[in-house]
Amino acid sequence: MPSTHALLSASSSHRWLNCTPSARIEEALENRSSFYANEGTAAHALSEHKLREFLKLPTQRPTSDFDSTELNYYTDRYVEHVCELISEAYTRCNDPRVLIEQRLDYSHVVPQGFGTGDTVIVSDQILDVLDLKYGMVRVSAEDNPQLKLYALGALDMYGFFYDVQTVRLTICQPRLDSISVFELSVAELTQWAEIELKPKADLAFRGEGEFAAGGHCRFCRARATCRARAEKNLELAKMDFKAPAMLSDEEIAEILTKAEDLAAWAKDVWVYAEKEAISHDKQWTGYKLVEGTRKRKYTNEGKIAEVVLATGQYNESQIYTKNLISLTAMEQLLGKKTFAEVLDGLWEKPPGKPKLVPKSHKKPEWNRNQQAKKDFED
Ligand code: SF4
Repeated sequence: MPSTHALLSASSSHRWLNCTPSARIEEALENRSSFYANEGTAAHALSEHKLREFLKLPTQRPTSDFDSTELNYYTDRYVEHVCELISEAYTRCNDPRVLIEQRLDYSHVVPQGFGTGDTVIVSDQILDVLDLKYGMVRVSAEDNPQLKLYALGALDMYGFFYDVQTVRLTICQPRLDSISVFELSVAELTQWAEIELKPKADLAFRGEGEFAAGGHCRFCRARATCRARAEKNLELAKMDFKAPAMLSDEEIAEILTKAEDLAAWAKDVWVYAEKEAISHDKQWTGYKLVEGTRKRKYTNEGKIAEVVLATGQYNESQIYTKNLISLTAMEQLLGKKTFAEVLDGLWEKPPGKPKLVPKSHKKPEWNRNQQAKKDFED
């Protein structure tokens, strides 16, 4: 049986390109499936089914524990976008090749490298590589190495049948209402593969190079126990605070630049330690397991209502609450078109509460003179 996961997978490429030893380190650690990963798998399976239906290919609707109107709605949004791009490809050539959940081999540039592209459309002029991300962490398509690896695989396998000039990378995040698109030429992609990808992939395959902690540690299997990450984060503790007693503005700004990573790292270590204690009876000096806070809950809501109403002192409006379903659920129920027509002017999107982010954040700076400030203060 061929392996289903490459050591240098496309989905972990952001990590092994930034920290080349990480792939071999992760190889030795257990890959625990998470609720979010399983939810993503369900979204991909349903999307694949819908796209196969659109392409009139044999398919059977998958079932999962995540089946819901929400899953149906958001996968529809992704599929709609893919279908638009497929139709667009037919305007460029008569026989575009549409690949759904296709294994793409990029081992000509990365040792033993392969991955599964969600959707790839190969046509004259443009090669489209689309990725569905069902999670809530925003991911940009700009220079995205995962999608560039899929593109390299697709070009190697099918590129010679078409006159491809441009590679268009698209990340769809329907739950964030986000479609991120980035284009580069085939020449730029090939140059990146030769100059940056190949040397780093060779190092990563051998498990060599320097450990380098950063944002890419977030989903690394070694994130809780990695020394390089710990050392980087503990640098904060080494800050040389001098008199006076109160921190200066410059010192607070310096702490802010590190606080987010520090908090994420501390949480990872905590979760790891707690899991080890619960699952493997691990004893940590100075710590113990206790039972969490208990919360009361009804065991039989129907019976409760029956008993309370039977007293004759209370009516249904006192014991039941009645709320409208959420805007998203309403839009799913009515469909986008009817929702826009019949509910126009009956809903609003109030300004979000301002929050502090690094200057590099892509949102424009909050304008305190705008109504937003007044609404927030109100
Ligand atoms: S946690 Fe970060 S620094 Fe450590 S191995 Fe993983 S990616 Fe590299």
